[in-house]
Amino acid sequence: DHGIGSLPRRRARITPAAIALIQNDVSLTYAELAQRVDAVAAVLAGLGVLAGDRVAYLGPNDLATFEVLFATARIGAIFVPLNTRLAAEEIRYQLDDCVPAVLVLDPRVESLGVNALASAAVCPMLLRLDDAYEATAACQASHPSDAGYMADVTMQDPALIMYTSGTSGRAKGAVLTHGNITWNILTQLAHISMGTDDAVLCAAPLFHVLGLCQLTLPALYTGGKVVVMDSFHAAEFLAAISRHRATAFPLASTMLAMLRDHPDWDAADLSGVRFVVFGGSPVAGPVVQAWLDRQVEVLQGYGMTEASPGVLMAAPGGVREHTTSAGVPHYFTDVALLTADGKIVHGPGQGELLVKGPNIFSGYWRKPEATAATFVDGWYRSGDVVRVDEDGWAYVLDRLNAVIISGGENVYPAEVERVIGELDAVAECAVVPVQDRRWGEVAAAFVVLRPGQELDELTILRHLQSKLARYKIPKYVVFRTTLPRNATGKIQRLVLRDEARKLSA
Ligand code: AMP
Ligand code: MG
Repeated sequence: DHGIGSLPRRRARITPAAIALIQNDVSLTYAELAQRVDAVAAVLAGLGVLAGDRVAYLGPNDLATFEVLFATARIGAIFVPLNTRLAAEEIRYQLDDCVPAVLVLDPRVESLGVNALASAAVCPMLLRLDDAYEATAACQASHPSDAGYMADVTMQDPALIMYTSGTSGRAKGAVLTHGNITWNILTQLAHISMGTDDAVLCAAPLFHVLGLCQLTLPALYTGGKVVVMDSFHAAEFLAAISRHRATAFPLASTMLAMLRDHPDWDAADLSGVRFVVFGGSPVAGPVVQAWLDRQVEVLQGYGMTEASPGVLMAAPGGVREHTTSAGVPHYFTDVALLTADGKIVHGPGQGELLVKGPNIFSGYWRKPEATAATFVDGWYRSGDVVRVDEDGWAYVLDRLNAVIISGGENVYPAEVERVIGELDAVAECAVVPVQDRRWGEVAAAFVVLRPGQELDELTILRHLQSKLARYKIPKYVVFRTTLPRNATGKIQRLVLRDEARKLSA
C-alpha cells in the first residue's frame, strides 16, 4: 500500500516522536497518529465499509478530519469532505450524488439539520464522531495490530471526491486518486522546501483542496507539524502565528488582505514565517506589497480542485518583480494556451490556460459528459483566461465565462478589480456586468473601503481613466461594507449581478 493512508505509518518509522498535528491543547505525534488511524480504519471496516465505498465527512477543521481521511484511505475507501457552510439542500444533493456508505458527522454541525437530512438521503449510515471515538478507544484496546482489513491501494485508486465550489451551476465531484494527491505533494516540494522544522498553520477549510492538500500534506509528508484551526479569525490567526512559531501557512487571497487590515497587524510577530502561499482568487498589488514590506515571502499560487490543486506558483525570490502574478508552472506541470480561434499555443500570449500533469484528475464522479467537456487533446481546460509574459510568469485575467462584452470589446472583471485595488483605501472590490441599452453590457463595480478610509467615486474613475481603456471603465460604482463570498473566499458574483440589475432598471 503506497496510498496516502500509509503516510502516518511511514512517517512514524522515521520521526515517531515528532508532533504531527496540534489543535488547541491536543497534539498527536506521528506514532500516535498512525495508531489512531489504524483504529479508526478498524471502526470503519467494522461498519462494513469496503474498498471503493465513499466515506462522507461533515465537520469543522479538526484533527479528526485528518484521521478519518487517512483511515478511509487505509481501507481503500474514498473520502468525501463536505462543505460545512452549504445549505442542507446542497449537502443533500452531494450525498445523493456520491451515495456514501457512511456519513461521519461532527456533532458541532448538527444545527445544519443534517440528521434528518442524512436519513432522508439515499443511504448513509450516520457515524457521530464522538461515538466513533468511543469505538476507536475500544478498538485500540482490544486488537491494536489486526490489520486484515487494510487494502492494497494503488496510485490509480480514487482517494478523494471533492465537490468543486460551483460558483457556476451545480457542484461536481472531482475524483482525485492517491497518485494525483501524491504528485501534488511532490510538485509542491520541488517548488518550496519543507522539513521537520516546519509548522504549518491551517485555518483554510479542510473540505477544500487549499486547506487539505496545499502545504498541510507536504508538511506531514516531510515530518513537519500542522497546527489546525477550526475557523479563520484575523486576530486569533495573528496570535497563533507567534504562539506556534508558524513557519508557513496557506491562505485564501481574501485572508491575506484581512490580516493586513487588522489592527493587530503592526504588532504581530512574523519573524518566524518562512513563506505564505495564497490563492483561490486574484489579489491586489498593495496587499502583496504589505506582506513583502514585513519581510515575508508571499507566494501566490494558482490551481483548482481538479489539479489537487497545484498548477502555478510564484517562484521564491521573483515576487517583487511580478507582484500580482500567479506564478510559473510547478515542476511537474505543463501549460499551454487555447486561443480564441481554437489553436493550442505555447510561450507568451493570452488564452484559456490548459494544464497537463500527474496531479490532474481523470474525471468527475459519474459525469462522463462533463468530464469529456473538460479536456481537449489530453489537456485539462481550466476555464480561466490567462496572460503569460516573456519570462513565463502567468497573470490570471478572469474566468472565461465572466467576461463582460461591452460594445464588442472584452472586459475582464479581474483586470478592472486589480486596478481599483491599487488604490490604497480599497479593501476589496468586485466588477460584474450589467445590461446596457447602448453597449450590450457595461461594468458595475462594488467597492469595499478599508476601515477608517475615505474615497469617492470620482477619484476611482480618475484613477481608472489613467490606467484602462475607456470601454473598461465601470458605468456604476457602488460602495458596500462587505462582499458576498463563499467559504473559500470566492465572490458570489450571481448575488452581485442581481444587485447590479437594479442599477440599470
Ligand atoms: P476551485 O474549483 O474552488 O478549486 O477553484 C479554482 C478556480 O479558482 C480557478 O479555476 C480560478 O478561477 C480560481 N483561482 C485559483 N487561484 C487563483 C489565483 N491565484 N488568481 C485568480 N484566480 C484563481
Ligand atoms: Mg472550478
